[in-house]
Amino acid sequence: MSRRTLNLDDRLYQYLLDHSLREHPEQAALREATRKHPRASMQISPEQGQFMQLLVKLIGARRCIEIGTFTGYSALSVALALPDDGRILACDISEEYTSIGKPYWQRAGVADKIELVIAPAAQTLYARLAAGEAGRYDFAFIDADKTGYDGYYERCLKLVRTGGLIAFDNTLWSGDVAKPAHDDDTRALQALNDKLHRDERIDLSMLPIGDGLSLVRKR
Ligand code: CA
Repeated sequence: MSRRTLNLDDRLYQYLLDHSLREHPEQAALREATRKHPRASMQISPEQGQFMQLLVKLIGARRCIEIGTFTGYSALSVALALPDDGRILACDISEEYTSIGKPYWQRAGVADKIELVIAPAAQTLYARLAAGEAGRYDFAFIDADKTGYDGYYERCLKLVRTGGLIAFDNTLWSGDVAKPAHDDDTRALQALNDKLHRDERIDLSMLPIGDGLSLVRKR
């Protein structure tokens, strides 16, 4: 028995997918449509989407935030896991990318659960705080510009309730966080990982799923 996480070779990864993945047909179709996109690697993996769906259901989330929507796979995944009166505030700066996902949200019947705001997320979050929405959210997923993560974190930590969850994507950054940094993105993720490790405001787990997913529960 190993005390470490397994390395998944292609065969074992396929086994994992074959024995766990339960995608909605529109999720599969959107993933396929995004696969040919030049920036397709920005999309989360399907097992990560399913894991986030489980988290949303486990904490009974009704109000969610997403920072970095890209073509809309993660927003679709979360929206499918929400109850009928659940909502996700999806923040992105690209009308072009997010418009790819909208028809899939429609066909999956969850378009009215997704409130897409095209603007810098820092502004959108600030506006929600100014509108008195601190503590009103259950779950936030941060997956946008890495140098912005810390600012998004501080605002999301105010917006989520006690016991609410914040998930950060890409916190292992293809392994680069464990090496000397040569660029701003890597430095930003290293600083964030250091900060989260010491942060007494939260409970923390860093998971080697996808490109690294850090889960933070607000104390
Ligand atoms: Ca990502």
